[in-house]
Amino acid sequence: MKLTKAPALVAALSLSVSVALTSTTAAQAANAGSPSARATASAVTAPAAASPLPAATSDAAQQLLARLTAKLPADWKDRQAATFARLGIERSPVRDVVDARVAEAINPGDYVCGPTKLDAYVDSILSDVDMNTLLVLALLGVLDFPTYEAIYYGSPKDPGFALTPASASVLSSSFGYAQRFWDVKLDDVQLMAMHGAMLTDVDRVARIVALLYGTSPSDSVDTAREIVKLVRTGAGLDRGRNPIFTLNAFAFSAQGETDPVVSRLPDKLVFGDGILDALRALGLKQVGPKAVMGHEMAHHVQYEDNLFQSELTGPEATRRTELMADSFGAYFATHKKGLGLNANQLLLVQDTFYDVGDCQFASNGHHGTPNQRRAAASWGVATAATGDQVKVLPSLRLAARFDRILPKLVAPDVPTTPNAWRQVAKDAA
Ligand SMILES: [Zn+2]
Repeated sequence: MKLTKAPALVAALSLSVSVALTSTTAAQAANAGSPSARATASAVTAPAAASPLPAATSDAAQQLLARLTAKLPADWKDRQAATFARLGIERSPVRDVVDARVAEAINPGDYVCGPTKLDAYVDSILSDVDMNTLLVLALLGVLDFPTYEAIYYGSPKDPGFALTPASASVLSSSFGYAQRFWDVKLDDVQLMAMHGAMLTDVDRVARIVALLYGTSPSDSVDTAREIVKLVRTGAGLDRGRNPIFTLNAFAFSAQGETDPVVSRLPDKLVFGDGILDALRALGLKQVGPKAVMGHEMAHHVQYEDNLFQSELTGPEATRRTELMADSFGAYFATHKKGLGLNANQLLLVQDTFYDVGDCQFASNGHHGTPNQRRAAASWGVATAATGDQVKVLPSLRLAARFDRILPKLVAPDVPTTPNAWRQVAKDAA
């Protein structure tokens, strides 16, 4: 849900799909998704097999892939990986389940996912989708094309990135509250949507193909035509409106970025239609978008305050910043000067949306377990409830308190109700 410049997690998170698809076993994929970027990157830069699809994949998938990659350079996978590594995409929990399903399609039975609400939702959006098509789309990075487009070319003034009428008011208003709530400069963050419909526009798709693969204008257009044809006609893809294409909400900042193009991009907060669909389907239409907004804006606070820096590295570093975003988001969402949400409603979002447990292989060990995430949110709720109801804590002071409390949040058998954290929150004040 955010883009981060911390290189370790960038590659680990964002390369998981391509790694999963090229690994011979799903267990390897799970390993590749979790350790340091170094390990993951080396898996990707290893010499490519004759076909990036596993041998067991059907002829139909092989042929489809051959058709879609006909105009791409031979090292297209490396080029794609390089762009992934440069940007990195924090995936939504729902997207993680989709990625797990893609891996499962290659090695049935390797993932035994608990039947969470997210699993059921992902099953429902994939039920009509042909698995060969999904594999090839995932391999080509098409599931992330709307995300790339929003990062590189998205603008709140462009109708192609306009918030949907159904979500505009709740997103704009909670965004504005967050901008005013925190004591850092957030007024230059651009809020926008991303829509899967871009995948039916040859010019827009060609621009992303060229960006990812360095293809010539004519080869980019030819490849884009094949992709658009597939998205327009593929069963269950709903002409790009299937939520699988936009299952992300993320905070992007070019802070610390050295790439000359990327470093000039403005701060963004992007909400995909798919994530809003998912929240609605999970019964979280009212509070879900606000809770996700709280979490994503917390990442922008972290950028402004330089909170991504710590002594931790790898998965532990990511877990810290993710749990902190959960705590900050909950503090903002329930504080009287923030959204003033009911704590139970907020925690329901936390429980439903982030309860993917061990199925979340792509982020396993990164975001924290569901219990740790709930504890982090509950601590944020308790800090808002027991603190000053009129004044908002300076973000750096809240962060210092969080860092002191972090070992308790990640301890075994951690309590997960706001009440259980009241005394701790009071003592920290
Ligand atoms: Zn996050």
